Amino acid sequence: MKIAVFNWNGSCCLGLVDEANGVLSRFDVPHHVCEKAGVTALIGQEFPKVVEDCNLVDVQLLAPVPRPHRNVFCVGKNYHDHAKEFSRSGFDSSAAKGEVPEAPIVFSKVPQSVIGPGKPIRIDEKVSTAVDYEVELGVIIGRSGRNIRSEDALEHVWAYTIINDVTARDLQGIHSQWLIGKSQDTFCPMGPWVILRDELDLSDTGVRCFVNGECRQNSNTGLLIFDVPTIIAAISNGIELMPGDIIATGTPAGVGIGFKPPKYLVTGDKLRLEIDGIGTLENPVEAW
Ligand code: MG
Repeated sequence: MKIAVFNWNGSCCLGLVDEANGVLSRFDVPHHVCEKAGVTALIGQEFPKVVEDCNLVDVQLLAPVPRPHRNVFCVGKNYHDHAKEFSRSGFDSSAAKGEVPEAPIVFSKVPQSVIGPGKPIRIDEKVSTAVDYEVELGVIIGRSGRNIRSEDALEHVWAYTIINDVTARDLQGIHSQWLIGKSQDTFCPMGPWVILRDELDLSDTGVRCFVNGECRQNSNTGLLIFDVPTIIAAISNGIELMPGDIIATGTPAGVGIGFKPPKYLVTGDKLRLEIDGIGTLENPVEAW
């Protein structure tokens, strides 16, 4: 099942997505709850009753978690081919430790960087002239846990979505820590909705990114260096994961920095990110 957060007649709503028929079945959830928690309002409970059907074309989709309750956890250099291209780019402050990390590299993006489908990724040329895209599988945690064992980890997952881990490469290189380069305003597009845990095959799901229709990234979740259970075990090692936490699992090769010369994002670009079984996340690029 797919669950979306959307704007309908000026109010924030939650609903079940029926893509084939272009319908969103709106749940009976108060608007202020939808606004605050997004899809995570439904974690651990029966689905509320449906109050009406809305046409998908008539609503504005929002990020499934419009404002995460804390930073989005992110994993860096988690596909072999991308680990190589990034280590060789000259912007990788962790390159001295080798191309392929021995343990997951974990950083975060601030909640305020999240935007929904269709909203512009904004480039401020006074701040960065090296803005890059990264398609990633997003994991939404449904059950809390600390020191979670990898063999138990998937029981703590509630749903999956698509995240674009937009990055200012120049800032990522200047600052040894990646937070500033990763957390610029509008740099965390998320959506178009979530699918529940059991509907995605982590061992074989296609992940793609197109810029202006050109396929730049084309990979598969089966090629992750550290798989989702390993990531959850690593992050929860002394940190209690909580329902509503979000993890971006890393991006494959084909980011702008991997090309010679680099293909950074510019105003007017159109991004389309696809993950099989989830859907398509599209965002334009605009200037501030
Ligand atoms: Mg990333």
